[in-house]
Amino acid sequence: MPDPSPATYPFTSGAALYVRELGVDIPDLLEKRVYNRARARGAERVTQAIEGKIEKNVGTDMPAEFEVLSYPVARMIVSCIGDDYLIRRYALAEAKAAHESLVGEQRSVLVAMGQEFGMDIDISEQRFRLHFTDYVRYAHRMHDTGWKLVNRQLQSGWLSLSVREFTRLLQEAIRDRIQHDLPLEIPSETNICDKLSGHIAAVKESLGARKTEFEIGGEVNPDAFPPCIANAITMLQGGVNLAHSARFATTAFLRNIGMSVDEIVGMFGGSPDFDETRTRYQVEHIAGHEYTAPGCDTMKTYGNCVGADDLCGRIVHPLNYYRIKKKARVSGENAGAAQAAVRQTA
Ligand code: SF4
Repeated sequence: MPDPSPATYPFTSGAALYVRELGVDIPDLLEKRVYNRARARGAERVTQAIEGKIEKNVGTDMPAEFEVLSYPVARMIVSCIGDDYLIRRYALAEAKAAHESLVGEQRSVLVAMGQEFGMDIDISEQRFRLHFTDYVRYAHRMHDTGWKLVNRQLQSGWLSLSVREFTRLLQEAIRDRIQHDLPLEIPSETNICDKLSGHIAAVKESLGARKTEFEIGGEVNPDAFPPCIANAITMLQGGVNLAHSARFATTAFLRNIGMSVDEIVGMFGGSPDFDETRTRYQVEHIAGHEYTAPGCDTMKTYGNCVGADDLCGRIVHPLNYYRIKKKARVSGENAGAAQAAVRQTA
């Protein structure tokens, strides 16, 4: 059975073994000129993750061993920065990149990858048979109702998945592993973060730009919420059972502006029939995937654009609305400043 390629799947135990066999120690990897490209690729992995997609390093003359070595470099950079948002975003991007490669793999590689995560797998009639305990471990955060265990056919504890479903489940397992292992413990006496300081500065700049783009972090200002989101929150707190699309948009929006899972669950908790377990499950799912809140066009399509005001006529995304209005309010200026900010967008 062929092993998953270490360069394509650097998070596997096989890749870790490969790195050990290369005999490259951390000081050499971080200091020697010969590994410049591995370090640069490691930083690139992280900046691309921030942008949303780690591109495959194809069509270059990069040796496979440097591609493998770039992965521990990337993990060290992420760990030195130690930002929760970055960790989630990086893990998700690595998992998505791996999924893209898995889609074209032979079944035997998919089975080997499943075994990497301790899954008991059998292939029968072109479908993957999996024990339900392995399934729920990774499927419980999936969005669509089709992933819910009650919607799957079980036979003596086993269920059947298409190739597409199985590779998607593997993506979740990969994300889980990468995210769970970060941040690495980096002893200060190793000076690892100092040695990577140039790359860390560049990644921090990208991270800062990404956060500024959607005003992630900083104090949350509910007065600056766009009408659609303010309306949805009012409805939720009043016990109205919102459509899934509205609940999703609201949760993603609140995550994007930097609210924690606990804060969001607390915000939804005003209604008399509030089900904390169910709400937390839904919020954690959305938080885990780093979804970006839908834009105004999508909100309109699903009937979730409610109460649009003058500022809405000048923006295309609820997060832009929030950013502009918050900026005007934080500056301590009055409605005139808000109008000025609005005019700047015209
Ligand atoms: S225009 Fe956009 S921001 Fe304004 S209410 Fe509609 S969806 Fe929300």
